[in-house]
Formats: sequence, structure tokens, C-alpha cells
Amino acid sequence: MLLTIEHLSKQYPNGVRALDDVSLTIPNGMYGLLGQNGAGKSTLMRTLATLQDADSGTVTLDGLDVLNQKDTVRRLLGYLPQEFGVYPKVAATDLLDHFAILKGITNGRERSELVQALLHRVNLYEHRKKAVSSYSGGMKQRFGIAQALIGNPKLIIVDEPTAGLDPGERNRFYNLLSEIGENVIVILSTHIVQDVMELCNNMAIIHKGRVLYNGSPLDSVTELNGKIWEKSIPKSELLTYQKQYNVISNKLVAGKPLVHIYSEVDPGDGFQTTQPDLEDVFFSTIEKSTFVAA
Ligand code: ADP
Repeated sequence: MLLTIEHLSKQYPNGVRALDDVSLTIPNGMYGLLGQNGAGKSTLMRTLATLQDADSGTVTLDGLDVLNQKDTVRRLLGYLPQEFGVYPKVAATDLLDHFAILKGITNGRERSELVQALLHRVNLYEHRKKAVSSYSGGMKQRFGIAQALIGNPKLIIVDEPTAGLDPGERNRFYNLLSEIGENVIVILSTHIVQDVMELCNNMAIIHKGRVLYNGSPLDSVTELNGKIWEKSIPKSELLTYQKQYNVISNKLVAGKPLVHIYSEVDPGDGFQTTQPDLEDVFFSTIEKSTFVAA
């Protein structure tokens, strides 16, 4: 499968340009859409999921016109929205059965087998009789994946799936996502860099509706080799450093800011070169775009 997005733009009536000439080619496998809150991720996901119209641009899935052949696309689509809505006090088995009916699986035996198989697949079988409303955050997300998998979708879209999950739940969810077939496209939107690093072989960084990077997370990290420098500084000097250097991030380590700066040459001043990671890629890419725009 190949999803091709070309020159997609969307402006909301309030003037916000949520998508600005977005072009991406997305192959089979896990694809990460990384961006801060408000970057335009959900707008792009909802557009790909045929729930919202763009102003201009095209999207094709193996030649199928996604923006205009919505019914056909919906049969190939599994979608886990950011807000799955209200979970009724209905047992997981019954709710999944209901979703399967909505997806057109009318044969009762076939549906019952599918529901059992899906509950096993997402590791909720032993909790199948409990109300989904009583599930933990991680269990709800795994239930969400189960409903998204009904009908063997070729394109699976999951919007910010790990927000609010504790580390254990997130791990279980990662494992589930990475098991989902290699012959389908899974697009995962997130503001959590670790999600992309652990799961995705390809990614895009999106910021203010524009694509700033498109490629493999590992390549993007390699490109930064030798260009990220770090130094632990007193809190009171943070502003001075921000004025003097291209500070891309600072985080507290043992109560003191550890600043990361981008520099193609040795900045001196006690900075030490450090192994870049995807967080450095993310912040330096956004920083560079702000610098260019200014
Ligand atoms: P993300 O998913 O990356 O947080 P969104 O796609 O939700 O980003 O939002 C992108 C931008 O569009 C934000 O500035 C947001 O406030 C704005 N936006 C989103 N939905 C609407 C809407 N229905 N009407 C007006 N503005 C919107």
C-alpha cells in the first residue's frame, strides 16, 4: 500500500491555517506524525479518515481518491480518534459486536468469532465481560485498537494514542501496535518523541501546519552527529545562555538545567559534544524553522 498526500491545505473559518501545503508519501509499516499540540496532526488525521474536508490538495491510497471516494476508503480504514467519546456501561464483547454490525458484518457466527479473536489479540479476553467504562486508560486504548481492526483495514490511523497512559500501559500498547501487520499502513500521531523512536521506521515532523522533516528517525539522528553540545549550568544563567547560543532544549538534571545547543563547530565555553537523540532532532528542526521564519 502507498498513501500519497499532495499539497494538502486547510484553513479554519477563524483564519487558522491548520495544514499548509502538506505533501507526504507513506508506505506500509508504522509511520509517526510528530508535532507539538496545535501543529495540525488531528486535522490531517481527520482528513485522511474522511471525516473532514481539505480546502485543496489530493490524497490517494494505491490510486484510490481518498478525498472523493469516501465510502470505498472507509471500508479500508481503521480509525482510533483522540477522543473516543463516552464509553457506555456495556461489556466489551457486546460493544465490539455492535461496532462489527456497524461495519457491516451481518453474519452472527462470523461476527462472534471475530469479536473473540480481536479480544484475544488486544489481550482483553479475560476482561471481556467487564464494562468498557470501567477499563483503565491503557485497556480503553487497546479496546480502541480492537474496534479499529474490524474489517481488516489496510490503513490504520491512531491519533495521540499514548497520551495519559502510564509507562506499563504504554509498553503494552507499543507491543500491540508493532504487531499489527506489516502489510498495512499505520499512521500514529503523537507529541511524544519516544513513541516515534520506539515504533516507527518513518516519520514526519509537523509544525504550524507545515512538514519540516520527512524521513527515517534513525537517519535524522545521524544527520545531527557532532552538532549537539551540552552543558550543565546554574538556573540563574539560563536566560544568558538562551541569548548567546542556539539553545534547543533544557531539562533539569539533579535540579540543574542541562542545556542542549545546536552548533556545527565547537562552541567552547565548557560545552561537551553529546550523542544526539530524536528529541534533539525534533527541537532543533522546530527551532530552525522559527529562525528561518523570523
Ligand atoms: P494537533 O492535533 O497537532 O494538536 P489540530 O489539528 O488539532 O492540531 O489543530 C491545529 C490548529 O487548528 C490549532 O491551532 C487549532 O487550534 C486549530 N483548530 C483545530 N480544529 C479547529 C476548528 N474546528 N476550528 C478552528 N480552529 C481549529
